[in-house]
Amino acid sequence: MNCVINTLKSAIKEALSGITFDYRDCAYSISYVIDVKQTLKHMVQTKGYAAQDAQTDLAPWNYEVREVGPHDVLIDILFCGVCHSDLHQIRNDWFPGIFPMVPGHEIVGRVAKVGAHVKKFKVGDLTGVGVMVDSCRECDNCKSGLEQYCLVSPVSTYNAMGKDGVPTYGGYSKNIVVHEDFVLHVSEKLSTAAVAPLLCAGITTYSPLRYWKVGKGHKLAVVGLGGLGHMAVKFGVAFGAEVTILSTSASKRKDAEALGAHHFVVTSDEAQIAGVKNSFDFIIDTVSAKHDLTLYLSLLKTNGTHICVGAPSEPYEVPAFSLLAGRKSVAGSGAGGLPETQEMLDFCAEHNIVSDIELIDIKYVHAAFERMVKGDVRYRFVIDMATL
Ligand code: NAP
Ligand code: ZN
Ligand code: ZN
Repeated sequence: MNCVINTLKSAIKEALSGITFDYRDCAYSISYVIDVKQTLKHMVQTKGYAAQDAQTDLAPWNYEVREVGPHDVLIDILFCGVCHSDLHQIRNDWFPGIFPMVPGHEIVGRVAKVGAHVKKFKVGDLTGVGVMVDSCRECDNCKSGLEQYCLVSPVSTYNAMGKDGVPTYGGYSKNIVVHEDFVLHVSEKLSTAAVAPLLCAGITTYSPLRYWKVGKGHKLAVVGLGGLGHMAVKFGVAFGAEVTILSTSASKRKDAEALGAHHFVVTSDEAQIAGVKNSFDFIIDTVSAKHDLTLYLSLLKTNGTHICVGAPSEPYEVPAFSLLAGRKSVAGSGAGGLPETQEMLDFCAEHNIVSDIELIDIKYVHAAFERMVKGDVRYRFVIDMATL
């Protein structure tokens, strides 16, 4: 809105400045005012939980989202997962953010309105939105369904500038308007709240496991049993791998079996670590904080791959000899493209896979952040948006 008002002010100023009165300029200004008034009238009023800056807590905030364009879908948000990336971003861990910031990119909701040319959705459909709401659509990566690696830049669901020059606002809110190409179909078969984390934690772990073809005959280790980690365990098991959890939290051992993991190792226990030296084909590393990879690389077999999906703000430390000895690789993977995200959601519906969640009132979100930082998350907080 501020953006539109500023544009309007400068247009009027420009039209009126330095001219001897000309009725055409005046008419132009009047018609511009009418256009802008029309636009504002049609914008969707909504409400979210926003951080006004990187130091303060989130609080209720009223704002507008764009009018539903011909290819857009307006979604009434039901649930939104709390990803560690939300905390990184509202705290400026990665880069200076765009404030006010409404976080949230694990969104499930129902379609409330569709644009005239929308083909994929109708009012009432259950839908999901993940980490992106747009991309250039023309680069090689976009054309091959890898929009998350758009060579121009994917437009993140929040904390980004949309192509219209207006900031994007995420899922800790009542509504979002998204181009239908970036909206996913969600099955009615699964628990709606427990589906929400699939939109980020799910696809971020599904995608690398598929890319490296992790499955039967492979030994997979998952580092960090949080939101991403517990989904990596579920997918690793579903794909037929033998899965070991490498955790700093001994108290999570009792959950490992229920999640389907075959083994559980506490990383501070030297005897347990000694038992898994040189044993894994793949490690998927979901850790959110600074950590040294040396220990984990020593657990890989020859030719093994350590896949980083966690995004600590500080660089990894990787001693050369821990790679040379055993021809080991350190790799990375980010979220997933739209076709693969839909594939993952369909796979989950078919195999009855959802996230293990703790459903929270939005007022609990700060306590949830604090618990997440301590590793006390079992295994994803999901906000019930009816509490906003
Ligand atoms: P989370 O729920 O907080 O889980 C992280 C887990 O890492 C914790 O539960 C803890 O598990 C472990 N951990 C935390 N601090 C640690 C430390 N200092 N040393 C070792 N282990 C530690 O977070 P999340 O939502 O899963 O996200 C994890 C990371 O992935 C974040 O950095 C997030 O930004 C990033 N991310 C990346 C992508 C992508 O596209 N690649 C997408 C989403 C999120 P234990 O108690 O078991 O040790
Ligand atoms: Zn996320
Ligand atoms: Zn692109």
